[in-house]
Amino acid sequence: MLKKLPQGAATFRGRGLAFVHGSHIVVKVCPECSQWNAPRAADTGVCGWCAYVPFCEDVEPVVEIETAA
Ligand SMILES: [Zn+2]
Repeated sequence: MLKKLPQGAATFRGRGLAFVHGSHIVVKVCPECSQWNAPRAADTGVCGWCAYVPFCEDVEPVVEIETAA
């Protein structure tokens, strides 16, 4: 069974940037090559530059930075 993915904005162990819809991971910024992904490649869940494929285990929710004192 796949673990429950965090929904919405996420990172790959603190690197890159992804957006999760259900079990679908859209790679926005690749954690391997740090490139903004092409929209067509992003929608397929891989990096269009280095063909990085995200692992579900690496996906972590983006921690909102609290600015309120
Ligand atoms: Zn890449």
